[in-house]
Amino acid sequence: MFSSGLRTALLAAFLLLAMLAHFSAASAGEADSPEIRACWASAGLSEDVVAISRDEKRWSCGEQAPSIDAERVLLRFDIAPGQPLPRYLLSRRSALQAVHLLAIDRDGTVRQNTIPAAALSSSMAGGYFKAALPDVTTKTREVVAAFDLPSHRMTLERAYVAPADAAGGIGDIRFLLVLAGLAGMLVMPLIFNAAFYRALREPFVLWHSALTFSLLMTILVSSGLSVALFDPKAMTLSWMTTVIFGMTVASGAMFTWSFIEPGLMHPLLRRLLPYCAASAILLSTAHAAFPFVARPIQSSAYTAAFAPILAVFILSMIDALRRGSRAARFQAIGYTPMVVVGLVRLVTGVVPWLTSTDAMLLFYVGCVCEVVFTTLGVAERFVTIKRERDRARNEAELLERLSETDALTGLLNRRAIEREFERLRTEGFTALAVIDLDHFKAINDMNGHSVGDEVLKAVATALQPGPDVRAYRLGGEEFVLLLRGDDAEIQAELRRKAIPSTIARMVSGLERPVTASMGVTRLSGDEGFATLYDQADKLLYEAKSAGRNRTKAA
Ligand code: GH3
Ligand code: MG
Ligand code: MG
Repeated sequence: MFSSGLRTALLAAFLLLAMLAHFSAASAGEADSPEIRACWASAGLSEDVVAISRDEKRWSCGEQAPSIDAERVLLRFDIAPGQPLPRYLLSRRSALQAVHLLAIDRDGTVRQNTIPAAALSSSMAGGYFKAALPDVTTKTREVVAAFDLPSHRMTLERAYVAPADAAGGIGDIRFLLVLAGLAGMLVMPLIFNAAFYRALREPFVLWHSALTFSLLMTILVSSGLSVALFDPKAMTLSWMTTVIFGMTVASGAMFTWSFIEPGLMHPLLRRLLPYCAASAILLSTAHAAFPFVARPIQSSAYTAAFAPILAVFILSMIDALRRGSRAARFQAIGYTPMVVVGLVRLVTGVVPWLTSTDAMLLFYVGCVCEVVFTTLGVAERFVTIKRERDRARNEAELLERLSETDALTGLLNRRAIEREFERLRTEGFTALAVIDLDHFKAINDMNGHSVGDEVLKAVATALQPGPDVRAYRLGGEEFVLLLRGDDAEIQAELRRKAIPSTIARMVSGLERPVTASMGVTRLSGDEGFATLYDQADKLLYEAKSAGRNRTKAA
């Protein structure tokens, strides 16, 4: 399926993914909130939180998960004696207005603080926010957290109180290090692409960079890496995650649109992909900018809106695979974990009785897998296109050489001299000699045309082209030399004189030596080829008139 050169790279990629899976399994890829099912209550924003906390009738403590339909949802965490005292409330971040936190002692004393959403800090556990509780003491019976305008079920379902921020253990640090390594790995394709693009201005290289960059950003914002590096506010990461998700889907769609070979995807699907990209951007920016417009169903609606996009995407892949696209094979493997993540999120986000999950571990694996395999695909395509271009260029060069070569003697022809004269002049070829065989017509007449051809070939041998002498056959039995160097005239004369002996050696049966006459001249200014040739031709004529087998120089 893959050319042998890629196998090593594939193996390396698999090893890396296995390593990631190993480390993630051993630690908190997904903050595994302790399974305390908290009691919950719903309320309006104007109601008093303390009063509701004290009103036992308002609370439901069954198996039923908290509903986000209300403007304000309260969760109650009982503090079991003997347990480490909690200091933080942690939960999956999503847009909300504020969090009220109450520590209620057994004697009824209430300590309370309110944290506006914008002030919430980020937890080291990727995707979670962290809010400091009011003092919890050994006398504290329960902690109540009230969420104003919650926008995502998981914020309520995943909330828990803990003595410390999540992800502080050695396993978590290892996991972060592996993630940092992976993030670093994603920088390499960006560098490759920059180099590829210099050589090959194909749009898919740019879209692949956009996709890689989005996935790199995704790993940063959705994991604890950004928290360790910049400690951003939770809501900043929240909207960034949403926007970057839109960018990822859009650049992925555009990459597929530009990368699948022409003719190997149904035209309708190809036309739909840019629309998918545009709607992904629109959806995600709208969701990030106006999180409360259609609360409480916005998050589910938002997730569901990606279903058609995912469908077009999967159909394009299947269609391209069926049509035999090589590009699609790399993409199909690369995208598979991500598509599974998409399905898991979609299903658990939309089906009410399933606990929503972000499938974070699979998600990171998916990011890396996607970049690794699409990079391999881009590299392979690059090699293929480059090979095709080289072949076309070689053919063109060959044709050009043929069109500038004299078929009989193998010397260059008039077309060549006209094309290269200006360049050769700048390289120092300033002397021009015109050589014409003497009484050649008679040789043809006496020995036949084919012997005449042999004579012409022998002349080509006698002219000995080299680094400082270019030899051309202008037509008939007329030759031109372009020469450089102080001894240009001497070199030309040596060659003219070599003609009779070379012909005698190479062509048998000639009754008398074949001589040649020559006119040789030098550039005085910046004359063109025609002028210089005319001068040399006049000198040649003079040489002929003066009795042939001689040279006239300017
Ligand atoms: P001169 O010394 O004045 O140059 O006399 P010449 O006989 O060489 O006169 P001219 O240059 O006019 O003769 C050109 C002859 O070259 C005419 C033609 O028969 C012959 N010729 C031209 N092209 C070819 C070719 O490709 N093969 C052969 N065998 N003969 C050719
Ligand atoms: Mg002649
Ligand atoms: Mg002639």
